[in-house]
Amino acid sequence: MSSSGSPPSTLVSTFEEAIAKLTSLFGMMRMMEAEIKDQRNNLQALKNSQRLSVRGSIQSNMSSRTDGILQRRLDETERKLAKTSAELKAKDEKLKKETASLEASREAHRLLQEESNKSKVSVMRLTFKLNRITHESVKEQAVLKKKLLDCETRLATYSECLVCYQKFDENTRIPRVMDCGHTLCDFCINQIVKMAGCYSATCPFDRVRIFGFGKSRRLEDRPCNRFIMK
Ligand SMILES: [Zn+2]
Ligand SMILES: [Zn+2]
Repeated sequence: MSSSGSPPSTLVSTFEEAIAKLTSLFGMMRMMEAEIKDQRNNLQALKNSQRLSVRGSIQSNMSSRTDGILQRRLDETERKLAKTSAELKAKDEKLKKETASLEASREAHRLLQEESNKSKVSVMRLTFKLNRITHESVKEQAVLKKKLLDCETRLATYSECLVCYQKFDENTRIPRVMDCGHTLCDFCINQIVKMAGCYSATCPFDRVRIFGFGKSRRLEDRPCNRFIMK
């Protein structure tokens, strides 16, 4: 190194001192920067932490609110359930009563049915009996009618003389009962007496003498048949 070109030693030392100072300042600056960075990081962390905390709190709040709502809903549901259960129980009781009533009605209906069946059988028997009686009665009526007709026929027969077939009357054809019991009209008896003679005249039915000994010979004295004359 030459003395002409070299700077004075004081300057150098000043320069070196300045550099040292600058270096030291730079160092301090770096330290401060680091510190700021740290503090910023801390702040960020704090913020994050606070945010988390707030979120947690909010979530917790929300959760508790939700819990409350759920609890209320649960309570409501339980109340409704209890009410429905009570209603169901009441309905069940009512149904039981109705079933019992229905059962009683059914039993009564069965008894009535039984009674009705018995009555039906009884009515059938009575109808059968009535039919039989009616049938017998009709038969009896027919028999009676026939008897009546016979009687009427006989009466008609009795009301006329069986010799001349003329109706008896109260004048010339009075029905006279003879000793034998037969009845003839006056006219016929007169005819018979005229033809056979008073002592020989006989009943045309059984040949018993009309005027026996010791008996009246007058026609007018012979009894009149009142049955025939009514
Ligand atoms: Zn006679
Ligand atoms: Zn006659």
